Amino acid sequence: MTGLSRIGMLLRSEGWRQAETTGLTPTQSQILAYLAARGPARIGAIATEIAVTQPTASDAVAALVRKGYVEKLRDPEDARAVRLQPTDAGKRLANETAVWPDALLGAVDALDDGDRAGFLKALTKMIGALQARGAIPVQRMCVTCAHFRPNVHSDAAAPHHCAFVDAAFGDASLRLDCGDHVEADAAARLESWTCFTREPVHM
Ligand code: SF4
Repeated sequence: MTGLSRIGMLLRSEGWRQAETTGLTPTQSQILAYLAARGPARIGAIATEIAVTQPTASDAVAALVRKGYVEKLRDPEDARAVRLQPTDAGKRLANETAVWPDALLGAVDALDDGDRAGFLKALTKMIGALQARGAIPVQRMCVTCAHFRPNVHSDAAAPHHCAFVDAAFGDASLRLDCGDHVEADAAARLESWTCFTREPVHM
């Protein structure tokens, strides 16, 4: 817990440092990054994704619209609803602020391949457990994906399989936010999670 809290402290201080240079609050930055990565979305989806209330998301979006970083579009699926999308200026700013703090990048670079793969696997398990408890929104990660086949290969370096690209891969390539993710149903997610968290036996 102490270690996670130290890393959280670094990320928070980076968020506030960015706020000083960009004029965006951390919530506004998160919304802009989400829209730049995922494309147009309704306010409800934005609030769910970044785990804030709808009024908080609405206030942040209103500020982004005033600053010229986000615009409103009519929702093609519902004439009474609107979707939000980043303007060109918003996309540029999102790209500039998507960079991780140098200190954190340096610390990850210092890990060897095995440590990095182990770290990503542990992180995936933690996020999956938090998601199962409803503490964070569902992520577009391998362990919740209908294409994921965990621990199906005997190769210890690449035990998992992605049915979308029909290829084996290892823990170092687990995805935490994949654009090709298709959410598996509850029974398939549970089965996948059980196979993923069970230590494979490699002969
Ligand atoms: S489609 Fe993406 S999230 Fe799904 S298993 Fe393949 S790499 Fe993982």
